[in-house]
Amino acid sequence: MTEPGRDILKEVFGYAQFRGPQQDIIAHVVGGGDALVLMPTGGGKSLCYQIPAIARQRAGLGVAIVVSPLIALMHDQVGALHEAGVDAAFLNSTLSFDAASALEKRLLRGDITLLYAAPERVTTARFLAQLDSLQERGLLSLFAIDEAHCVSQWGHDFRPEYRGLTVLHERYPGVPRLALTATADALTRADIVERLQLEDARQFVSSFDRPNIRYTIVEKKEATQQLLRFIQREHEGDAGIVYCQSRKKVEDIAQKLSDAGISALPYHAGLDAKLRQTNQDKFLRSEGIVMVATIAFGMGIDKPDVRFVAHLDMPKNIEGYYQETGRAGRDGLAANAWMGYGLQDVVNQRRMIDESPAGDDFKQIMRGKLDALLGLAEATDCRRGRLLSYFGEALISRERSAEDDAPEGQASRYFCGNCDNCLAPPAVWDGTDAARKLLSTIYRVQQVTGISFGAGHIMDIVRGKRTEKVAQFGHETLSTFGVGAAYSEQQLRGVLRQLIAISAVAVDGQAFNTLQLTPESRAVLKGEVSVRLRESVLGDSPRPTRGSKAAGARGAGSSGKPAPIALDQEAQQRYERLKAWRAEVAREHNLPAYVIFHDATLAAIAQRDPRSLEDLQGISGMGEKKLQAYGDEVLRVSCSG
Ligand code: ADP
Ligand code: ZN
Repeated sequence: MTEPGRDILKEVFGYAQFRGPQQDIIAHVVGGGDALVLMPTGGGKSLCYQIPAIARQRAGLGVAIVVSPLIALMHDQVGALHEAGVDAAFLNSTLSFDAASALEKRLLRGDITLLYAAPERVTTARFLAQLDSLQERGLLSLFAIDEAHCVSQWGHDFRPEYRGLTVLHERYPGVPRLALTATADALTRADIVERLQLEDARQFVSSFDRPNIRYTIVEKKEATQQLLRFIQREHEGDAGIVYCQSRKKVEDIAQKLSDAGISALPYHAGLDAKLRQTNQDKFLRSEGIVMVATIAFGMGIDKPDVRFVAHLDMPKNIEGYYQETGRAGRDGLAANAWMGYGLQDVVNQRRMIDESPAGDDFKQIMRGKLDALLGLAEATDCRRGRLLSYFGEALISRERSAEDDAPEGQASRYFCGNCDNCLAPPAVWDGTDAARKLLSTIYRVQQVTGISFGAGHIMDIVRGKRTEKVAQFGHETLSTFGVGAAYSEQQLRGVLRQLIAISAVAVDGQAFNTLQLTPESRAVLKGEVSVRLRESVLGDSPRPTRGSKAAGARGAGSSGKPAPIALDQEAQQRYERLKAWRAEVAREHNLPAYVIFHDATLAAIAQRDPRSLEDLQGISGMGEKKLQAYGDEVLRVSCSG
């Protein structure tokens, strides 16, 4: 075998080429090695264990055990494997007693290729005894530990049950193990290695770039309206996810989107489990649903055609942001990551850290991570450059050309051409003077009044607004009253945000979010540190941003949504017939439509206008089993116009 797994890739999954490091990983694991795989969401992790599992089963090595944290998603994952003709199963509490017993019998015979189970299940005495029996007969082919960052408390989805998985190595040292995650920071990675005893495993770290995702971060101003405009302008009828911080906000936004005619559903941990499952199923199975959710939603969701992820509140750190935005555009087609953020977000996140019961070291790390995210939000240079360098990735791509020379002081000269700052470089202004005026006002009011005030009042004083509160405390007599009348409130807000971001202003969560000076304030006051800000860009993305591929397909003279590739009118009609047919099949099989065929596969079929089964061969996503099962139907539907 020169290239292990290449034949399986083609035959079972219908793909012509491996992506990124898939080939090396698969060769390594097929050969019996341990591996730690770090790949961005949508990078193609599943094939890294599915292909070795199939190869090793074919070689008589038995069953691969896939540890997966979410019972709710095993059904669809296994369904997708069945569609591809792979003998897979899941063992979890949704099975009836009889079904579970029957499955255990099959397991003990070793004639399942992949068995999915949650960590709680895998570590039970009963299950381990079954694995022992397989192991004795050489029928335990490999362990794949998906979402491996769950083992680390540095990660954002810590699951204590993952800790128990060390038993796998101790009990079955000869069985290859493959841990996979999309969380990349060094701390978490080291922790995974230690916790899962993967010291000798080979590490495969992919590029974390997701070139098809366009990053846009806007300052919030009437955030709901901004979000609505964004969806209506760029994502009509598309599936997307909107992340909010609180349950209440989730419900509120879902309602507002629905009122505006968008098919939106709420999802958060406070909803009844059944409703949560129903909403998740609808999101996976129907087209064009917008899920409004807390971060409780998303892990393990492998819907490939999520066209946008929007954040209405700032996440805790870049890891979270990247993982969440990574859920857009897994199919490789154009997608948007949109975030609105504002002063309140900064204040809230700071306060949550300060008030958390965690130890000081932990808080320190969390503050550092939050600062990095603030840096990203305030950045005037390439967002992608910032993200990749945060994950320690060398920036080797295009540099900005000499003509449009970047303003000095920018962190990188990287130019990706597919983020808001690259598409429309923001104007930058020097906020140092405004910063000093704000800081001296915070100082003066504290000195004169003996108490501290919140952001609104401080800004009113700087701008010289005679409010009731100003009169009440006699603040119009302060020497800084009105010194910043030339600044808009929005500008001052931006400056304050930066000051909080660089810790030159502290927010006291115990005392009505009042503002305080810090040791770092002095450098700004003395003019040693300058504050540079992006000119406030209100609201929207720099320009209509449908990806070029999809944009080309617009106006194909049909009522339906454009196909992912440009199609002429007849092909577009074939595409729509195929989609309608796929929806029926998906319903019959109780599976999401993309598990039957991706949009891209249907579009490729429509374009080819096939007349025979041979014409269908070689279309990406058309494996042998699918060709057998659906080939004739696909031909009939495609030609029926
Ligand atoms: P991850 O688990 O890393 O988030 P998935 O394994 O779900 O990503 O893969 C993302 C998408 O990419 C899936 O729809 C999968 O079918 C597709 N994919 C993976 N590998 C390939 C490949 N070599 N060629 C074409 N498509 C691929
Ligand atoms: Zn860029």
